[in-house]
Amino acid sequence: MANKNLITITSPLLPDIDEFHELLKQIWDSKWITNCGSFHQQLEQDLNEYFGVPFISLFTNGTLPLLISLQALRIIGEVITTPYSFVATTHCIWWNGCKPVFVDIDPSTGNLDSNKIEAAITPKTTAIMPVHVYGNPCDINKIQDIADRYGLKVIYDAAHAFGVRVKGDSILNAGDISTLSFHATKVFNTIEGGAMIIHDEAMKKRIDYLKNFGFADEVTVVGPGINSKIDEMRCAYGILNLRQVDTAIEARHQVALKYREALRSIDGISFFDDIPDVRHNYSYFPIFIDEKKYGMSRDELYDKMKEANILGRRYFYPLISEFSTYRGLDSARPENLPNAHKMANSVICLPMHHALNEEDIQRTINCIIK
Ligand SMILES: *Cc1c(COP(=O)(O)O)cnc(C)c1O
Repeated sequence: MANKNLITITSPLLPDIDEFHELLKQIWDSKWITNCGSFHQQLEQDLNEYFGVPFISLFTNGTLPLLISLQALRIIGEVITTPYSFVATTHCIWWNGCKPVFVDIDPSTGNLDSNKIEAAITPKTTAIMPVHVYGNPCDINKIQDIADRYGLKVIYDAAHAFGVRVKGDSILNAGDISTLSFHATKVFNTIEGGAMIIHDEAMKKRIDYLKNFGFADEVTVVGPGINSKIDEMRCAYGILNLRQVDTAIEARHQVALKYREALRSIDGISFFDDIPDVRHNYSYFPIFIDEKKYGMSRDELYDKMKEANILGRRYFYPLISEFSTYRGLDSARPENLPNAHKMANSVICLPMHHALNEEDIQRTINCIIK
């Protein structure tokens, strides 16, 4: 049985069940349950309009578009990336037979430090794979400038960046490809799901072939594709959720404002403030503990919250570069990644979602203050 006193880090945005039922009836009537039916087409169109991006392709989760983006751009050799992310980012480089090269992060955003990228480029480097961590925009202009000068592709793991805009322009327009996750834990979800944002029609076609075994028509297979299609039911669910996602983001914003106001004066606690010209999505609310000033370690606070039934998460700890697959890489040495280690060792993401009530927020704040 669900514990009423439990405050979870996230809670899925759910469509109205009666409205969902109506759409399910339409699917039942049509008997078209997957393979890019009308709800699939509509969700692609709705998202195109919502983001203001030229082409989007839907996927069955957020990991496959990452994996397929490297295939589509024919990435080989070395890929520069961040150790401070969800492990899927680096796994996709590895699964493509490429070598991940870790570069340290910028402590002011948690993102790949664009000033340290050039030093990591070798003749084998073919791509940069940054992540807009927590929805904080990467330094997209500087990264593009480096990519242009060295002839590199840029693939953004934008799993945290749904709805993020810089000066009114979607962050998803940056780079060669951006990928999204629509997992239940994210700002916008289709239960499981994901997407790829593409800038030209030829690549959109190529991606749609690749996610459907390489089929161009009944008798033509144009490449070694895979199956990564999302079904009609989850697309219908997504269409409904898209209509309420801005309200959910605004509710998250209000939570962030309350956390900031209450925690700003606490010695040893820091967090990110709003960034000028950025429409943020408040996908996470990370706080950083300075043990000496706060008087308690990060892990002690984490345990104390857990005892009080408040479930924070140490996102992102441990660093990807610390997992056994990657630990042996030269770029994974802790001396190469001091800022990433510092952030990983001090972070707790507080409960953050659209349905947190005043009492939940106060209980969380009180637990940190006392
Ligand atoms: C959630 C997430 C993914 C993976 O998405 P799934 O939909 O769970 O496959 C990839 N990268 C980052 C940064 C994520 O947070």
